[in-house]
Amino acid sequence: MECLFCKIINKTITANIIYETPELIVFNDIRPQAPYHVLIVPKQHIATINELTPADKNLIGELFLAAKHIAKDLEIADQGYRTVFNCNAGGGQEVYHIHLHLLGGRQMIWPPG
Ligand code: 5GP
Ligand code: ZN
Repeated sequence: MECLFCKIINKTITANIIYETPELIVFNDIRPQAPYHVLIVPKQHIATINELTPADKNLIGELFLAAKHIAKDLEIADQGYRTVFNCNAGGGQEVYHIHLHLLGGRQMIWPPG
């Protein structure tokens, strides 16, 4: 199995896991781009947003509900935060297992780089 995030999910490589359910896992990004930068990752391997199907609707909803709860736990819900999915090379995707970035703890700027 080659996928880096599948290895983190299967605990064959370590990550700083902060939350886990039967459907998803959340861990700190190894190269944080903000004071808080976590990755919310479905346990099911889906390479990119382009591979999503209607059967994944509930799963994607779970990722955003996890983002909401984690932002509250990190006490950044009121000040605000950013959620990002990158898709394919042009979107800046490096790891081909979908994940929702949750970034906070500083002022976000727009447009993003
Ligand atoms: P992408 O560019 O695919 O949207 O985001 C991939 C993210 O995974 C990047 O922010 C990168 O820093 C993070 N990342 C890459 N390798 C590892 C790793 O081995 N462990 C952790 N915790 N994060 C990683
Ligand atoms: Zn994977």
